[in-house]
Amino acid sequence: MPQITYNRFWCNQCQDYTLHNTGEDGACRTCGTVTKEYLLSDVPIEKQEEQRARYNKQKEDSMYSILAGIRRNPLEDMFRDVGSDIVINETDAGQIEIDNDWRKRMDEKREELKKEYEKFRHTGRNEKCPCGKTDENGKPLKYKYCCIDKFNFV
Ligand SMILES: [Zn+2]
Ligand SMILES: [Zn+2]
Repeated sequence: MPQITYNRFWCNQCQDYTLHNTGEDGACRTCGTVTKEYLLSDVPIEKQEEQRARYNKQKEDSMYSILAGIRRNPLEDMFRDVGSDIVINETDAGQIEIDNDWRKRMDEKREELKKEYEKFRHTGRNEKCPCGKTDENGKPLKYKYCCIDKFNFV
């Protein structure tokens, strides 16, 4: 049996992420209408989250199947049942944007930490800590008792 591919996409009519035909048609397989445009912000948040979960699962599964392919015994292919496969392309429902935002924030955070690390990197263990913290008597804390482990990961 040949492989059939559907795209899961937001349907304005169904108000849900439904399977759509691929190619020029692109109609929802549930209601038959075509959703040309929609705003992600108009999609209920729980529907977005459901779809992101599907998208993430597909991403994870395809990673595993690539790993399995690397390890696969060629003999197994001869006995593997090919066919009757329905392939569903999951839309990301904003997940890619979320991932990119997160990556950008992590990059910014890393730059911030690098800058801060500059203040600490030439400090000796027994010198006072550049962060300026003091003990209960107002005496500056030594670096080795204060922030010395803060940049372990740099
Ligand atoms: Zn529909
Ligand atoms: Zn400190």
